[in-house]
Amino acid sequence: MRVLDGEDPVAITTAATALRAGRLVVMPTETVYGLAANALDPAAVARIFEAKGRPADNPVIVHVADAEAAHKLTGEWPEGAHQLARRFWPGPLTLVLPRGPDVPPIISGGLPTVAVRVPVHPVARALLEEVGLPLAAPSANVSGRPSPTRVEHAVADLGVKVSVYLDGGPCEVGVESTIVGWAEGHPLVFREG
Ligand code: AMP
Ligand code: MG
Repeated sequence: MRVLDGEDPVAITTAATALRAGRLVVMPTETVYGLAANALDPAAVARIFEAKGRPADNPVIVHVADAEAAHKLTGEWPEGAHQLARRFWPGPLTLVLPRGPDVPPIISGGLPTVAVRVPVHPVARALLEEVGLPLAAPSANVSGRPSPTRVEHAVADLGVKVSVYLDGGPCEVGVESTIVGWAEGHPLVFREG
């Protein structure tokens, strides 16, 4: 287990290598610190649930580099989704969209949808670009504990379960993303962030 400076390009390469090997990485985002794994690898995603003690029916959000990467993971977007993505990405808005065939069901707790967002934090963006994979990343805490806004909180909670911690300093927002989904074509706010 290593805690590395997220602004160091070597740290980003080290974290990307760990992710490609199916291991867990803690990364800063603008909302809270995230516990990241390769979203396309069901065994890696299972490690997130195990490390957090998260119930299997609580789906995780997938972080991607841009809207194009989000399209690759999703089916047809409802009306309004494009405008929301254009207006709020990159940033703390999560969209719940039809789940594409490449996304393992474990991500969504078996739901036919998948939650995706494009983070704006420079360290999260650098990691997504370097690794070239979508990253499942719920908050980097054990279930039931507060979401971490500093890397030390994540280390205290998850310890050696994580290969690489990327330190990006304190999170700016400190609150989870807003989540928007659709029911029968109507947009709904699932969570206010
Ligand atoms: P987080 O713990 O920040 O990763 O947020 C996960 C939350 O996002 C879940 O507890 C759900 O409320 C919501 N979520 C994720 N995926 C979905 C989905 N496919 N459908 C509805 N809500 C979702
Ligand atoms: Mg959480």
